[in-house]
Amino acid sequence: MNDLFRVKLQERGTSEIESFASYIYRLAYEHGVSAGEIVRYVFSQDTDEINAYKENNKDPKSISCHELVGTGGAVTLLVDYFEKLTGEAFYKSTFWFLKAAFARCAREVRKEVNWCPECFKEMELKGVTPYFKLIWHVNSISHCSIHRTPLMSVCSKCGKNQNTCVRKYSNHLCQHCRKNLSERTRALRKIEYSDSWNFTGADVLNLFNELSQVERKEMAEDGIVKSYEYILTSFLNAKDYEMLDVLSGFNIPVITVKRKVSLLVARRFAYVLNISLYDIITANVMQTTFDMDYELPNYGPNFMKPKKRIKKNHSRILIKIHKYLSDQDCPPSLRQVAEYVGVSVGYLEYRYKDLAKKIIIEHREYQCKIMLHKKYHAQKMALDFFFNEKYKRYNKSRRQAYKVLREETMLPKFVLKHAIQIAYNAMNDSILIY
Ligand SMILES: [Zn+2]
Ligand SMILES: [Zn+2]
Repeated sequence: MNDLFRVKLQERGTSEIESFASYIYRLAYEHGVSAGEIVRYVFSQDTDEINAYKENNKDPKSISCHELVGTGGAVTLLVDYFEKLTGEAFYKSTFWFLKAAFARCAREVRKEVNWCPECFKEMELKGVTPYFKLIWHVNSISHCSIHRTPLMSVCSKCGKNQNTCVRKYSNHLCQHCRKNLSERTRALRKIEYSDSWNFTGADVLNLFNELSQVERKEMAEDGIVKSYEYILTSFLNAKDYEMLDVLSGFNIPVITVKRKVSLLVARRFAYVLNISLYDIITANVMQTTFDMDYELPNYGPNFMKPKKRIKKNHSRILIKIHKYLSDQDCPPSLRQVAEYVGVSVGYLEYRYKDLAKKIIIEHREYQCKIMLHKKYHAQKMALDFFFNEKYKRYNKSRRQAYKVLREETMLPKFVLKHAIQIAYNAMNDSILIY
């Protein structure tokens, strides 16, 4: 770790900042170790913080890429460790603001490393060490904000993701097949580019821009809660029920309680009120008075659209189940019924508890009968093999019996083996008696 200082975090202080996961990956590659080894090395240090962490938590053996940009305890310690070692603020290469401001932020962070091939190409041309940007980890960002091209998550040659802790090559090469990640399988069609006026996640991108200029200590931890309560109270005091109705129409809870708010709710809030996400998070919104008409466009970004719930027609489903059951010659399993009807097994167990139980029992009894039949058949055949004239040309060994009977009956190995053993014992016993 002595030459750690050589590896510098890229694009510090801008919205293009390198992610902490990318930094650890580069560090691993430069030192010829895996990312897991770096994590284990840091956690083998004898410091008060690390010892305190290890008292209450398992030793982290390795950390996944989405954890590396998250706000969990282990990552906070890793970040602290590198900050102390290098004197640089690494927290900005994680989603630090999500911890400060939001509840449930897991949905906002991608599980997989994503990248823009065009950005990688540019980095190569400019001689910049290739790195993954933090913004590429944001779930709602599907396109590169510079090139407007869709981000990629798997290698165009081998189809594998780049989450592996083993970093054999530089970040812009596939860690599995060494293919250059700046190459796409085919040229993009015009329609695949994102329009600048309709960029998904533009609000989050703006937030990134503004946050890159802010220090951790400058940001109030409860800024978002304050904003939320301030906005709702303003509307309640003004008896503006129309606005409250608009908000709840967008699935924004309109009850003021002291609790954390999700990023999604904050984004919806900001969109409806036409203020920046940053102003909501930092409670700058409290300097604003709301005096607006509520003419909202009837189109909007995806995150404004409440999830559609598809209503099930339960009686039609029930009829379909009964028809399916009566059409079958043998009792099907509950999974087969669910697949045919197009619902989940859980749905059947929840809604038609007794019927589901009946299906399970009948299927199980049928399976037992089939198994019993197979066992009888195997036993008869095994006895025939050792005692019947028909098989007299064969050597009377268990191995030979298995070979012949398996070919004739195609019965499972464990059924045949058991039957052959019984017949074999019977043959030996009869020889002894004789
Ligand atoms: Zn790009
Ligand atoms: Zn590959």
